[in-house]
Amino acid sequence: MVISRDQVPKDDSWNVEALYPTFKDWQKEFVERFPEEKQPRWPEIASFKGRLGESTDTLKAAIECLLHIERTVEKLFTYAHLRHDEDIANDEHKAAYQQILGIYHDFAQESAWFEPEILTLSNDKIDNFLSSPELKEYRFHLEKILRIKKHTLSAEKEELLALAGNALQSPLKAFSAINDADFKFGKVSDSEGVEKEISHASYGIFIREQDRLLRKHAFTKYYAKYSEFENTLAELINGQVQSHLLNARARNYSSCLEAALFPNNIDPEVCHSLIQAVNSNIHTLHKYVDLRKKVLGLDELHLYDMYVPLTSEIDLKMSYEEAEEVIIDAVTPLGTDYQNAIRKGFLKERWVDRYENQNKRSGAYSSGCYDSMPYILMNYKGLLRDVFTLAHEAGHSMHSLLSHQNQPYHYCQYPIFLAEVASTFNEDLLTRTLLQKFQKKGEKIYLINQKIEDIRTTLFRQTMFAEFELLIHEYAEKNIPLTPTLLKEEFRKLNRKYYGDSVVIDPEIDIEWARIPHFYYNFYVYQYATGISAALTLSDRVVNGGDKEREDYLSFLKGGGSRYPIDLLELAGVNMRDPQPVQQAIKKFADLVDQLEDLLEPSDLALK
Ligand SMILES: [Zn+2]
Repeated sequence: MVISRDQVPKDDSWNVEALYPTFKDWQKEFVERFPEEKQPRWPEIASFKGRLGESTDTLKAAIECLLHIERTVEKLFTYAHLRHDEDIANDEHKAAYQQILGIYHDFAQESAWFEPEILTLSNDKIDNFLSSPELKEYRFHLEKILRIKKHTLSAEKEELLALAGNALQSPLKAFSAINDADFKFGKVSDSEGVEKEISHASYGIFIREQDRLLRKHAFTKYYAKYSEFENTLAELINGQVQSHLLNARARNYSSCLEAALFPNNIDPEVCHSLIQAVNSNIHTLHKYVDLRKKVLGLDELHLYDMYVPLTSEIDLKMSYEEAEEVIIDAVTPLGTDYQNAIRKGFLKERWVDRYENQNKRSGAYSSGCYDSMPYILMNYKGLLRDVFTLAHEAGHSMHSLLSHQNQPYHYCQYPIFLAEVASTFNEDLLTRTLLQKFQKKGEKIYLINQKIEDIRTTLFRQTMFAEFELLIHEYAEKNIPLTPTLLKEEFRKLNRKYYGDSVVIDPEIDIEWARIPHFYYNFYVYQYATGISAALTLSDRVVNGGDKEREDYLSFLKGGGSRYPIDLLELAGVNMRDPQPVQQAIKKFADLVDQLEDLLEPSDLALK
């Protein structure tokens, strides 16, 4: 029986009281700061408009005014969002959450002029400002804004592009409407004839089921829906690519890829070298696919056989407290300070909201702000998977904690490119510890296979997507129309290349690109692959290294968002412009596949 929120013991819940002792205290602060609906909400922001070029003092005051407001709103937001998620049926908390979202929206609107105005300042003025000691602490903050100056157009042209902004969002909005609302996938029957409804969520479950007929039916039916609308879906993706092309051409970038990566100072070479490194080592994935076919005992391995687990989930019955202990133990290579901080967070500060309760948000995350602890929401059930989830989220939380402790507010947020490094790193440390701790063959097989699947789906699969994304943008750059036939052919070729000859490339997969929302995010997916490559390379470096390697990694965590992402990773000891980290991650994958093969004796291979 799942308990209601008010029955949750204090020790099992996160320490929201550290932010505001009670909900009433939050309300009190909210009303004090935002007493009424007024326009503008912050006259002080408006008072700087048109004056940024006046003097260093004025610019500094304007920056600090915005940062101060943002920081205050963030604290109120964090509390409301945590309370909202612990019981989404609580109307009082829901209203508070909506209120603070409204404030955020107002802030975004009222401060929207700031960056464009900075970009209109003359080069001489900018150089003066950047070299002045008064603005020293904001230099990188300003540099990030100014970076796009050479790709910024005249005020008139910028205004025109901004006006087009809403219209250019249509492909994404239409895709989301058709994919999330309009599509009804219908029902499929399992091997016993029981009918089951397909949705995005249930498809993800069915494709992992041991019932092969159910997998096959779900796969066929799910993709049939996308095929039925292939012309519409091709036009939508084409529309999105065209909007990237418009932006790239209008702003004088040499390619869509360059335009997407430039603001974060990521060299297009990072993406190219990822694809190249994966391509030249693709035989390692083929080898795993062969092994999968053998273990499953199939004459033909289809794409709907790619996700079914090779062993059943191990029910370790590890209590939540034991999970915390094993994670604290696993992070030993990061040193006593790191270990003590995570221990304090778990055992003293109550970062974690541990178990399920009625109407609690599902899944898991790490969240917080500069003025809060790095909270973790999860729904711990005692499966090995849950222990990994806690290690993953604790990795995010420790990254936030160290960044907050070592950076000023304006450099505390680490960029998206780095978002999954610390979490994946900690999962890898946990795998190492558990492989020592668990000696039974079944347990080892489970752990190794889980790691293999992580790398397959994050490194190989996302690189395949990145390759497809790059390819269709290059076609558009050459004015080659993105027809359904072309998109399907290219996607099929990639599947053939990545999975090799042991797999039957079912025709249904040709349309898979049509269901991936990330293709609307403008060169997003490659970051999953670079993130896991960096994390795995760094965990090897720290575990096999000494004080220097550990300190390098910790300075990356402490660096927060104080430099560009590639430079921060360089601090940690990996160069993402080079194929080496990707090659090392693939080498690790290959070793794991060998270990799995050794563990699986011929008698196991006959088992289904
Ligand atoms: Zn994560």
